[in-house]
Amino acid sequence: MADMRRDFKDREELVAYLREQFPEAAARSPHVSPFIGGRTSAESRLAVSKFGAEYAQTRNYVTGSVTRLSPYIRHGVLTLAEVRDAALAQVSRAEDAEKFISELGWRDYWQRVYAQVGDKIWQDLEPYKTGFTADDYADELPDDIRYGETGVRFIDDLCKELFTLGYLHNHGRMWLAAYVVHWRRVKWQAGARWFLEHLVDGDPASNNLSWQWVASTYSHKPYYYNWDNVLRFTGKKYLNASPRILGNEAFLGTYEVIARRLFPNIDLEHDHSQPHQSPPKPTRFKQDGKKDKRR
Ligand SMILES: Cc1cc2nc3c(=O)[nH]c(=O)nc-3n(C[C@H](O)[C@H](O)[C@H](O)COP(=O)(O)OP(=O)(O)OC[C@H]3O[C@@H](n4cnc5c(N)ncnc54)[C@H](O)[C@@H]3O)c2cc1C
Repeated sequence: MADMRRDFKDREELVAYLREQFPEAAARSPHVSPFIGGRTSAESRLAVSKFGAEYAQTRNYVTGSVTRLSPYIRHGVLTLAEVRDAALAQVSRAEDAEKFISELGWRDYWQRVYAQVGDKIWQDLEPYKTGFTADDYADELPDDIRYGETGVRFIDDLCKELFTLGYLHNHGRMWLAAYVVHWRRVKWQAGARWFLEHLVDGDPASNNLSWQWVASTYSHKPYYYNWDNVLRFTGKKYLNASPRILGNEAFLGTYEVIARRLFPNIDLEHDHSQPHQSPPKPTRFKQDGKKDKRR
């Protein structure tokens, strides 16, 4: 295959060329992510990123100071080591960058699991802990989710962001994934495939294993949330609108109420103080993908 063109007079010309070269992708979605590729853009983002207290205190808010470095890290434009070094250089005490560096650690961890299990990353690594078996979940993503037309405004807003930016905040990814798997009872694999079609940082390891974490096929319990959690971490966006008007009734109630609604066959412990991933139990895999009993 001939080398692709590299010089363009402007971004429009580049986009037109790519549409021509990849007609199937162009037919699938009219959107072009605003992320600008390449090393220069990556370095500019790195230079304005916040790695210390501001990151740690705001990262769970959709308006928080997250770096949006994921596309550059995913495609090898920046290495994890240089991002870590930039973070350490910015703070006066190494501990101040601990939260940020632990997130880089998550990326590294998922890559290592992927290196061990390979394509089995598409299979449930463990059974669901939802009181349901995999057979209880639909194989395909319903069209209303696929096209962001569920009628639940906050879910449709997340879909629109995913389609137009090719990026979602981590919390948005968790909300959307949990909606697909737990509220709509669709297999996580269908959602993971859909994310990979749209994300500019789409990565089989971080994506599939995060979906498995939400689903509970790679964690000890399912991730779910309620409307208070959405209100808190979306800032003022939905504060004055009635959840009933927004179509969000399904998220109303305490965690206990939601858990009983979503997982009627089991009794889930209430532990939702931190809307963030708790590490899965360290699982070693043998080459055949089976769990290694040695701990
Ligand atoms: C359902 C779901 C799907 C996801 N799919 C992807 C994916 O395809 N590609 C991808 O890179 N990340 C994925 N993530 C992880 C995470 O959401 C993104 O890495 C993060 O939101 C990227 O934004 P950022 O660069 O602004 O993050 P920051 O908070 O600024 O973090 C800096 C870097 O740390 C790494 N990182 C941060 N949080 C996580 C995390 N929870 N897991 C792994 N690495 C993390 C990323 O490389 C990120 O660029 C997914 C998470 C969920 C819940």
